[in-house]
Amino acid sequence: MQRYAVFGNPIAHSQSPFIHRMFAEQTGLQLTYEALLAPLDDFAGSLQQFFTSDGCGCNVTVPFKEQAFALADELSGRARRAGAVNTLIKLDNGRIRGDNTDGAGLVSDLLQNNVPLAGQRILLLGAGGAARGVLEPLLAQQPAELAIANRTVEKAEQLASEFADLGPVVACGFDWIDTPVDLIINATSASLHGELPPLAPTLVKPAQTVCYDMMYGKDITAFNRWAQEQGAGRTLDGLGMLVGQAAEAFSVWTGQRPDTAPVMQALRDRLAGN
Ligand code: NDP
Repeated sequence: MQRYAVFGNPIAHSQSPFIHRMFAEQTGLQLTYEALLAPLDDFAGSLQQFFTSDGCGCNVTVPFKEQAFALADELSGRARRAGAVNTLIKLDNGRIRGDNTDGAGLVSDLLQNNVPLAGQRILLLGAGGAARGVLEPLLAQQPAELAIANRTVEKAEQLASEFADLGPVVACGFDWIDTPVDLIINATSASLHGELPPLAPTLVKPAQTVCYDMMYGKDITAFNRWAQEQGAGRTLDGLGMLVGQAAEAFSVWTGQRPDTAPVMQALRDRLAGN
């Protein structure tokens, strides 16, 4: 029986145990997956205890992703670029390898929903950890332009300069851009508080622009409500990204890629309280 877990603080709300148990059932693998609360001042100790006992791999969530990055013995290329780790695996030689599957989760969700990315104008809202983690996989899809807009413009400028070698990326303030784009991805945490960045309605091409909020929940998010009011072609929430990053982590650990569709449906039902 292989042992996996997710570390966070708080962690009680995590859907990861539900998702990974469904993946295990689907693939017939014998594994356990639990949510573990790490003390804010001793994530390193919790992690060490997990791996020196029988832990094979774990996910890491808020607020420990940067600490996991620093604690890993080695890093994947995408984790190094992201500056954060959400997946750790114990290798056969005992070393702990850090990876970041958040960006792959977003891109696989977009592609599964037939959202075109190549040659498109993309606007990424936010310049925090989530935005940083998705830049490399988004730029790998060869958009025509990727604009990063952030409340603190300097942070967007910093990200744009760090990723400029990977594609056409520019930085701006929310109200500097008003010409229509093909895809808007909300990677700000504004929706967590029911808030919305000050966005020009003209960003949305009626019946065409796809709007994606990384946040998800029982009800429609403030950003997706705004998008629908502007007549967006489609709105998507971050549940697919959550399941996508979990599927990518599961495949890093086990070599097996689970089918995300039934898990998405089960999670939607669960969030709706059915
Ligand atoms: P961070 O705290 O690292 O970054 C927050 C970002 O939001 C910053 O760019 C900040 O701007 C901006 N922001 C916060 N409040 C406002 C506001 N009221 N108006 C405009 N901008 C605001 O958070 P993360 O990057 O880790 O997470 C961002 C979102 O992505 C969260 O909602 C999180 O739940 C979601 N997420 C979803 C995942 C999924 O699997 N679906 C995975 C990871 C994250 P500034 O720099 O100016 O402070």
